[in-house]
Amino acid sequence: LTEDLDGKAALVTGASSGIGEATAEALAEAGASVALAARREDELEQLADRIESEGGETLVVPTDVTDEDEIQEMVDRTAEEFGSLDILVNNAGVMLLERVEDADTDNFRQMVEVNLLGLMNVTHAALPIMQEQGEGHVVNISSVAGRKAYAGSSGYNATKFGVNAFSEAFRQEVTGENDIRVTLIEPGYVDTELAEHIPDDEQQEQAKEALEAMDALEADDIARSIAFAVGQPSHVDVNEMLIRPTDQE
Ligand code: NDP
Repeated sequence: LTEDLDGKAALVTGASSGIGEATAEALAEAGASVALAARREDELEQLADRIESEGGETLVVPTDVTDEDEIQEMVDRTAEEFGSLDILVNNAGVMLLERVEDADTDNFRQMVEVNLLGLMNVTHAALPIMQEQGEGHVVNISSVAGRKAYAGSSGYNATKFGVNAFSEAFRQEVTGENDIRVTLIEPGYVDTELAEHIPDDEQQEQAKEALEAMDALEADDIARSIAFAVGQPSHVDVNEMLIRPTDQE
């Protein structure tokens, strides 16, 4: 069902691991040129080598999405190198779970600056290019945590609920103006390194146990869903996809 992405240019944030890495590979396999953004340049270079060895085209753009100048450079370099920016996957994120009473407020700030403000600012920087092209597709990675709040997840929930709200308001703004599509992806448990960065030891242990107790999703499962959404004909906008492991509550 996925249309050929030959000739399309994609930009994936958080491409150095997990869902972003798998998505970059899936889009490249479907024919898109892919710009790879994250902070860890070595991982991006390795991914670029892998994609190129299979005949794909890549651009490595080391970027911290909390820095507006770096965001602008990332977007401009992608459009210049590939001649367009057709697909933006706002995937970079951190999950620094802590109870409010225990929280290090730097972790609150980091989650808001990466998961929410970063996504908003990257969208803001990419939009003029898509408007000029008359088309484009923005894919925002939220979470089940963008729909359901849990004790111990307040900061992360706040950012993902924010992503859902921003995405829907943005979708309404661009609807009818151009062929600009917006897709919200809400994964459940995916086996990536996300939980390894949880600062609270007990919460990190709980998250890992929950992952091990179920047949969790792989990053590829989400990448496939993203490839499906962006591969639809331009009059079809897959607005939202909620994807849980079959045995997740
Ligand atoms: P990973 O930890 O594997 O990937 C997170 C990515 O975000 C990394 O590539 C990391 O790269 C990047 N990143 C973090 N901070 C920044 C920053 N300041 N600037 C640029 N890039 C940054 O986890 P996942 O693949 O699981 O997470 C990807 C997305 O999926 C996140 O938004 C997450 O919230 C969401 N998600 C994940 C779920 C799961 O169960 N795994 C479930 C639901 C949603 P680097 O460190 O090199 O900068």
